[in-house]
Amino acid sequence: MRANHQKIQFTGACLCGAVSFQFQLENIKMMYRCYCSLCRKQSGAASNASTFVQAESFQWLQGESLIQTYIKDTGFNSSFCRQCGSPVPNVLAIDAKVMWIPLGLLQEEFSPELELNFCVNAKVSWAETHQKLTEFDELPNMIELKNYFEINQ
Ligand SMILES: [Zn+2]
Ligand SMILES: [Zn+2]
Repeated sequence: MRANHQKIQFTGACLCGAVSFQFQLENIKMMYRCYCSLCRKQSGAASNASTFVQAESFQWLQGESLIQTYIKDTGFNSSFCRQCGSPVPNVLAIDAKVMWIPLGLLQEEFSPELELNFCVNAKVSWAETHQKLTEFDELPNMIELKNYFEINQ
C-alpha cells in the first residue's frame, strides 16, 4: 500500500436521494462503458458508464433497505432504488470484494485517465455522436424543443 497519497471522498446518491453511499480513493483513474444489450436496457442509454472499487473502501450512508435487485436467469443482475428506479452500486456476484459503481450517481467532479469498452460487437450505431446541431448551456425551452423534434414526424 502506498503511503502519502491522499484519498478523495467520493459520494453518490440515487435520483430521489434515499439511497446514498461513499467511498475513498486517490482518484477514479479507470472507468468502463459496456455496449451490450443488457447494459443498454439497464442504463436506458447506448452504454453504461461505470467503475469498480474495492468493497472495503465503500460504505452505504443510507437507504440500503430500499435497494431491490433483479437477477436474470443468466446471472446478470441490476440493483436499483425501489423509490426512484436509479441504478445503484452492487457487490459483484463473482467477487464480493469488488463493488460496481454507476458513475452518473457521483457528486464529485473527476476525469478518469483511462477507459475500457466492453461488448463493442453489440454497439448500436447511435452510440456514436452524429452531426451536432446546437449545444445548449442549459435545457432549451419547450417551444424550441418542439421545433427541433418535429423532424421526427
Ligand atoms: Zn431513489
Ligand atoms: Zn454489458
